[in-house]
Amino acid sequence: MSAEDFLPFALPDIGKEEIEAAADAMRSGWLTTGPRAAAFEREFAEFLGEGVHAVALNSATAGLHLALEAVGIGPGDEVLVPTWTFTSTAEVVRYLGADPVMVDVDPVTLNLDLEAAAAAVTPRTRAVMPVHFAGLAVDRSGLEKLARNCGLIVVEDAAHSFPTVSAGSLVGAGASEAVVFSFYATKTMTTGEGGMVVTSDPDVAKRIRTMRLHGISRDVFDRYRSTVPSWQYEVVAPGFKYNLTDPAAAMGRVQLGRAHEMRDRRGAIAAVYDEAFADLPLELPAHADPGDVHAWHLYVTRLTADAAVGRDAFIEEMARAGVGCSVHFIPLHKHPYWRDRYALTDEQFPVASAQFERVASLPIFSSMSDAQVDRVVRAVRRVLG
Ligand SMILES: *Cc1c(COP(=O)(O)O)cnc(C)c1O
Repeated sequence: MSAEDFLPFALPDIGKEEIEAAADAMRSGWLTTGPRAAAFEREFAEFLGEGVHAVALNSATAGLHLALEAVGIGPGDEVLVPTWTFTSTAEVVRYLGADPVMVDVDPVTLNLDLEAAAAAVTPRTRAVMPVHFAGLAVDRSGLEKLARNCGLIVVEDAAHSFPTVSAGSLVGAGASEAVVFSFYATKTMTTGEGGMVVTSDPDVAKRIRTMRLHGISRDVFDRYRSTVPSWQYEVVAPGFKYNLTDPAAAMGRVQLGRAHEMRDRRGAIAAVYDEAFADLPLELPAHADPGDVHAWHLYVTRLTADAAVGRDAFIEEMARAGVGCSVHFIPLHKHPYWRDRYALTDEQFPVASAQFERVASLPIFSSMSDAQVDRVVRAVRRVLG
């Protein structure tokens, strides 16, 4: 097997149109945030529906940070996060001097366990950050009930879930204080690096707009087109440098137009896997409720006790067969920083700790060919059959 034959775990789905749009932006001279970023925000908000404000940033991590900042999270506050996530979700809480409180997950969906979350609430708890893991939404009514009963602000980590439909609505169109999407290279749509915060609260949107560009009251583009002299601006806070560039936004606009098509391709791949692996010693991923939509950012299988190999050996054998697999996630409580800082143990997270030993993610990206999907199927069947 040559190196070219290796099927990586994930690849972006970038075509001629994205390349042309990014090149166009470069030719235009708008290399930083400009008219394409503004159009991307408008189109993204329109995609989600009425009353949505969208603010583009250079990562979802930046978005999570500024969303928490905008709703007033600060030192002494606690924010509930699932242990089953990427470290971004929790690190942004630390940026603000607050403490993330890790919570175990549901054994079926691997999404935040809402009962465990309610049990973890203290007088210091101000917010909850659910992650719609793999592209399957957290139970909407359960989340709303938790927020209402415990008086919590909700900031959704929607890095996996564009587009996801839950209880009939797109994730991002809902009533949470803020919902944050990622356009990282391997996510369901990409700008290379990028992210978007959406909110129905104009004050939250305004604060994030200010804080993403040095705490300046108007961004470069506003200055450029305004009737006020372009050299005039005011710094109102010690902000950050989190703005999205126009070439990236141009790529994002094309990807946005292809979001449904790319989702449908991933959905079709998931359906092939479901059927091909039904008789194997694998627990297959949970599905969305009828009428809802799973974004299928990840296809996470779990080896069952009767499998001939363990998870680590499975991933090694798959690599030998030319297929890249991954693990989502190494729970936060197992990483040295989080474990040591908050004295966390496996026993506090029985579900996540046990599931971590079994999970393996298979390639599921929209630019995979049928032949590549078939290769994954054959490799899995060979390793486990
Ligand atoms: C990818 C990811 C992020 C961070 O996204 P960036 O755009 O890379 O900052 C946050 N949360 C989760 C769950 C992710 O998978």
